[in-house]
Amino acid sequence: MDDLSIECDLLVVGGGMAGMSAAAWAAERGAVVIVVEKAAATGGSAVLSGGVLWTASSAEKMRRYGAGDPALGQVVFDTYPDAVAWLRRCGVGMSLRMDVLHGQGYQIDIHGWIQHCQSLVEQHGGSVILETETLELIRDGTGAVTGARTRHEDGDVTVHAKATVLATGGFQASSELRARYIHPNARDMLLRSNPVSDGAGLRLGAEAGGEVAGTNRGFYGHLVSEPNRWDDERLFVALSQYHSEHALLLNEAGERFCDETLGDHTNTYETLVQSGSRALCVWDARVHEAYATVPVVSIGVPLDKMQTAIENGGKGVVAETVEAIGEFAQRQGFDGPAVQAAIETFNRTLREGWETLSPPRTEDWRPIDKAPFYALVVHPAITFTFGGLTIDAGGHVLTPQGARVPGLFAAGADAGGAYGHGYAGGLALAMTFGITAARSAGWA
Ligand SMILES: Cc1cc2nc3c(=O)[nH]c(=O)nc-3n(C[C@H](O)[C@H](O)[C@H](O)COP(=O)(O)OP(=O)(O)OC[C@H]3O[C@@H](n4cnc5c(N)ncnc54)[C@H](O)[C@@H]3O)c2cc1C
Repeated sequence: MDDLSIECDLLVVGGGMAGMSAAAWAAERGAVVIVVEKAAATGGSAVLSGGVLWTASSAEKMRRYGAGDPALGQVVFDTYPDAVAWLRRCGVGMSLRMDVLHGQGYQIDIHGWIQHCQSLVEQHGGSVILETETLELIRDGTGAVTGARTRHEDGDVTVHAKATVLATGGFQASSELRARYIHPNARDMLLRSNPVSDGAGLRLGAEAGGEVAGTNRGFYGHLVSEPNRWDDERLFVALSQYHSEHALLLNEAGERFCDETLGDHTNTYETLVQSGSRALCVWDARVHEAYATVPVVSIGVPLDKMQTAIENGGKGVVAETVEAIGEFAQRQGFDGPAVQAAIETFNRTLREGWETLSPPRTEDWRPIDKAPFYALVVHPAITFTFGGLTIDAGGHVLTPQGARVPGLFAAGADAGGAYGHGYAGGLALAMTFGITAARSAGWA
């Protein structure tokens, strides 16, 4: 018996932030859209997130802190106002403006947004099909992508579409791909995202002729304390040590290895590549009061990060002297005397010649010298990957020769290159490229 076959204007593979935004944008402009989602529900990492839709506050900051392909970063920056205007027009709940890292944003009702997108798709004759695997993209004689063969428990369905958007959320859930594209140490990295995004979009796109650029090793993530369980997604935020950018990070040899002040997300990559893929995060009473007990965005819930870490299996200590921090470090398998010396040297250098500090700090040159002292063993955890399918500024998937794969687009974390070792918003990246892909596919 032949497979069931359906037709639509736009096929979207993956029903998270990028996919649902692309689908709804096209549907609002009259497209019949089919979204195929592998999980039992839509939303992906977006509905696990804090819902803060933010990006760099200037094009210059986007280039500096996004640190990816400038043309793609510019698309995020330029399309962000359209995204916000659309959310407002749709009546989605939004907070007042807030500061986030080197940018600005709003907390949005992310569950409400995903539901609203689904309603728009359905109102315009499309549907969202859950628990559906995409086996392969189909192509016509010219090489253009014309849909996909999908598998649902009720049987296989071929979806014929004028355009297809890949939006499966990146490859962070595949230990093998993490090891191949990020770093060998990344194979065992903690996963701080939905568990479904294992690189299917990259595979499908590459099979259809698209390029997966293997040179972007970047990812977004955070340093987390050692968890005694990792099955409750609320721990993703509760155990994240956002304040590492005001602290000191020391490796097992007791050495500083990065400019901590560039951001906890940057510190996460730097820690991954250290011996043992871990670090000792050291801070003092000043940092504790100002940053380790205060939510990272104004709408967050205040938590004592050390106390929360220890309650959930973290290896940490609060001590009156730097010497005691060294002794704790030694018990955790770090070079204790070197740790003590590194803290003392750091403080002395900041008092006597901050300009000689190596590695340097871009911000926060205050010593870590107000007792009590805090030390916590931290590990990298990945939220989404920056490398992916090569796209142009219209979201078209490109071949290794730089030509467009006709009919094929990528958005969100499936699209590589907008960020390098930096970061200027995950939801914004997904939503702006969702809109961009839908526009390029003909629904401007
Ligand atoms: C704890 C946490 C907090 C965060 N906080 C923020 C924040 O406040 N601000 C911010 O900007 N970003 C935040 N993020 C990041 C943000 O959620 C992501 O960057 C964003 O959701 C990525 O969008 P996406 O569409 O690429 O992926 P997702 O939103 O993850 O969507 C991908 C979808 O594809 C589906 N899928 C996977 N494989 C397949 C397949 N083979 N076939 C079909 N479907 C498939 C997945 O199930 C999922 O539904 C946070 C993330 C987490 C986990």
